[in-house]
Amino acid sequence: MKIAVLAGDGIGPEITAEAVKVLQALDLKFEMERAPVGGCAYDAHGHPLPEATLKLAKQADAVLFGAVGDWKYDKLDRPLRPEQALLGLRKNLGLFANFRPAICYEELVGASSLKPELIAGLDILIIRELTGDIYFGQPRGRRSAPDGHFPGSEEAFDTMRYSRPEIERIAHVAFQAARKRSKRVTSVDKANVLETSQLWKDVVSEIAAQYPDVALDHMYVDNAAMQLVKEPKRFDVVVTGNMFGDILSDEAAMLTGSIGMLPSASLNERKQGLYEPSHGSAPDIAGKGVANPLATILSAAMMLRFSLEQPEAADRIESAVKDVLASGLRTADIHSEGTKRVGTREMGDAVVASLTKKTTKG
Ligand code: NAD
Repeated sequence: MKIAVLAGDGIGPEITAEAVKVLQALDLKFEMERAPVGGCAYDAHGHPLPEATLKLAKQADAVLFGAVGDWKYDKLDRPLRPEQALLGLRKNLGLFANFRPAICYEELVGASSLKPELIAGLDILIIRELTGDIYFGQPRGRRSAPDGHFPGSEEAFDTMRYSRPEIERIAHVAFQAARKRSKRVTSVDKANVLETSQLWKDVVSEIAAQYPDVALDHMYVDNAAMQLVKEPKRFDVVVTGNMFGDILSDEAAMLTGSIGMLPSASLNERKQGLYEPSHGSAPDIAGKGVANPLATILSAAMMLRFSLEQPEAADRIESAVKDVLASGLRTADIHSEGTKRVGTREMGDAVVASLTKKTTKG
């Protein structure tokens, strides 16, 4: 099992170190190799995704990714900015399926901006198509408007497009994921207005026939955004396109209180994956030892489950995280009265201690 560890910028190295520590505490053998990515790679090699880093990521079974970015790179040309490394990895590895669970831990119910009864026990899985849609569709650009309301004025345009195979493969991913959960899929689109969405809806419905044990319903994206705050627990697996998924997964993430708790996985057809926390590089707290490492540790658990075929080890990490939260330890972002505030390293140590204790007990 070969893991490429790309820690990146800001809090990336701090949080990734804790996830590596947790992986090493398991009784499994991993080959781990590190490489620079993002702003630090640009500083050292003149590019946010150096050839050697991409080569390592391609050869590995999985990539454990910290975060990239810092305000100091904002003036660089777009292709050289740290965030381009992530886009480059997604594209080169064909990571079309993005899994973003939004789970509300019992102990953190108070951290959400919604009423506790709405989110207690929340467990949603958003599956976002990651390599198509308006973010990648061609043509795109700026020009003098050839027609429209203001011919001759400056305009910009993007192209929203989806092909049948792109929709089919993400639909299969969603139905298969639902089979391992409560067997319900909500497909989100805007089929009342968009041709791409109508194709999306038709194809998802066709694929559903191959999964008679899974219930499918369709929802327009505007209603889905509303239902996520009105009655979030009505959802189980949500499958949607790149742009709608981008927006809805952030909305779902915030329901749970802290972005420091949320893992993510991006997979290709060979189940090779990139695993990273849902948050960014948090330059405001970098180097202070206060960042929450749990999203990265939980991303490592997803890696064990999806790419490395070690579901028991994934369960063990997730259960250790729950134990640590139940014991009252909190990093600053999830701290509340009556709990004990700890730093990044102490939080990682506590997860390791919980894992080790359980192993010793057998
Ligand atoms: P951010 O997610 O880095 O931070 C938003 C807020 O959340 C900050 O106050 C930060 O301190 C806090 N936060 C984030 N992660 C935390 C953690 N683990 N523990 C405690 N607090 C945490 O978003 P931003 O500030 O908009 O962006 C900062 C940089 O990160 C930018 O350069 C941006 O481009 C980049 N970014 C990278 C990724 C990625 O690598 N996948 C994703 C989003 C943003």
